[in-house]
Amino acid sequence: MSNRVVQGRMVTPERLAELIEGERPMEADGIEDAERSCPDCEGDVIQVTYMPTVTELVTGYKCQACDWADSER
Ligand SMILES: [Zn+2]
Repeated sequence: MSNRVVQGRMVTPERLAELIEGERPMEADGIEDAERSCPDCEGDVIQVTYMPTVTELVTGYKCQACDWADSER
């Protein structure tokens, strides 16, 4: 199971990508632990790779405890 709890809510990879991107992705891979901690609250950061469009692959990062999110594209 790759669903994780983010800010008290269980999210799927697609939902996590939506939180980071602001829009639902075409496709999202499983959620993984990111080897970093949140710059805002030192909380655990998780990552997900997703495709916002057919030609773009993005790695998104999201803190499990606060609103912090980032993406690499
Ligand atoms: Zn945080």
